[in-house]
Amino acid sequence: MRSDPQDYQLVAPGTLHAVVSLLATEPGAWLPIAGGTDVMVLYAAGKLPARKLVSIWNLPELRSIEVFPDEIQIGAGCTYIELREHEIVGGEFPLLARAAAWSGGIANQNRGTIGGNIVNASPAADSLPAFLVYEAELILVSIRGERRVPYLGFHTGYKTTKLAADELVRTVCLRRGYSEYLHYTRKVGARNAQAIAKICIAALGRLADGVVDDVHIALGSVAPVPLRLIETECAVKGKCIDSGLLTLARKVAASEIRPIDDIRSTARYRTEVTKNLVEEFLLRLGAGAKN
Ligand SMILES: Cc1cc2nc3c(=O)[nH]c(=O)nc-3n(C[C@H](O)[C@H](O)[C@H](O)COP(=O)(O)OP(=O)(O)OC[C@H]3O[C@@H](n4cnc5c(N)ncnc54)[C@H](O)[C@@H]3O)c2cc1C
Repeated sequence: MRSDPQDYQLVAPGTLHAVVSLLATEPGAWLPIAGGTDVMVLYAAGKLPARKLVSIWNLPELRSIEVFPDEIQIGAGCTYIELREHEIVGGEFPLLARAAAWSGGIANQNRGTIGGNIVNASPAADSLPAFLVYEAELILVSIRGERRVPYLGFHTGYKTTKLAADELVRTVCLRRGYSEYLHYTRKVGARNAQAIAKICIAALGRLADGVVDDVHIALGSVAPVPLRLIETECAVKGKCIDSGLLTLARKVAASEIRPIDDIRSTARYRTEVTKNLVEEFLLRLGAGAKN
């Protein structure tokens, strides 16, 4: 059924403090809307449960990218275009820059924000595996103050998160220091842009003395939440990359994921592609590649 605009209320208080004050008055009643690229799809389909919308688009407190010696802090209201164009993001966090470059087309990248991608919580979202492997931390804000939480574990189930009803994601913090790592990513789907991934991977790895010294691997579209492959990482750490390790990594990765059949793909296809992508990543790491 089509939505009638008169059934909806949209306010734009204009400051972060005014927004979190409003959220606190009726927790859960007001739905924040940033770029609107997910919210408006639900609205157009008549599936938007909220009737009260509060705009957080262009709030200055959510729009900056601050660079510190040990980390960068990206405002949750930053768009994909802003990420693509940022020198430090492109140079030090290429997995995020590449995910931004294939998140829809240019129009979508001008409106879609990373806060929206995180809170919309699609297991197929492109930037979320990158946040997992860079071990992002989130600063959440409400009228009660701020709290900093690891992004790993933020998604508690399909489209559910640890965000309280009166909270916003304010900032995404990424620790610097991955210049010696291989940054590997792939989006497998009908196309890179303007298509939802059948499966996507982001991975970081570093060799030392011929063995896997550190490795982070995350996948989208293989579980109800974006998934970090912790067991696969443990299985390969400290080992030399040879055919035995590749076989082991394929097996452990397949056992960690929980893929389903849906309109875009099958569980069997997703399992095979997961194994192949993990193997390709390890082969590139073993060969000394950096991207
Ligand atoms: C044509 C099209 C193509 C797309 N292609 C891709 C793609 O290739 N890859 C991909 O991953 N996504 C894609 N998307 C989905 C969408 O663009 C992204 O998820 C985007 O990041 C959402 O950001 P937004 O600011 O538009 O979110 P909104 O629609 O404004 O909000 C989404 C949800 O997040 C909440 N929210 C937003 N910001 C915050 C915050 N700071 N704190 C708390 N809650 C917040 C809102 O309340 C809402 O529940 C596509 C969408 C469209 C329409």
